[in-house]
Amino acid sequence: MKRIAFFPGSFDPISRGHEDIVLRALPLFDEIVVALGVNSSKSYMFSIDQRLEWIKNTFADYPQIKVVSYEGLTVKASEKHEANFILRGLRNSNDYEYEKSIALMNQEMAPNIETLYLNTAPKWAAISSTSIRDIIKNQGNTAPFLASGVQL
Ligand code: ADP
Repeated sequence: MKRIAFFPGSFDPISRGHEDIVLRALPLFDEIVVALGVNSSKSYMFSIDQRLEWIKNTFADYPQIKVVSYEGLTVKASEKHEANFILRGLRNSNDYEYEKSIALMNQEMAPNIETLYLNTAPKWAAISSTSIRDIIKNQGNTAPFLASGVQL
């Protein structure tokens, strides 16, 4: 059985923390699907195409990493891409509590898909896409926080 992990997120924009989680998870899986979740009732700073382009640039050197977008339930999209794992990153205990409740519901809906978490490397633990967007709005330097494929 191929080990395929689905890594869902908004990636608005993709950060070093996201990049680090995917690259550290790579040896564990045959394929990782980095999946941009689109929620039509949410507003984003960057367009879907822009976010996808930055994710693709970031992982261009890795044929085992696929980049897609999806709408609707994460478990349905994971099944569509034949993923048997959902991968998430944990920065702190708040992330853990939030992720746990989602994972428990996902497990009810799709018992064949296991959610796996990796702890964030301490260096990137303070980064969130929300604070990156705030820095951008205030014309600050986001270079240390953005994934390698992001060109602002
Ligand atoms: P969502 O809208 O699902 O919160 P994000 O794009 O913010 O999407 O995050 C996607 C995944 O990446 C989540 O598992 C989140 O916990 C994780 N993540 C976010 N920021 C970091 C970071 N700095 N380091 C590691 N993982 C992170």
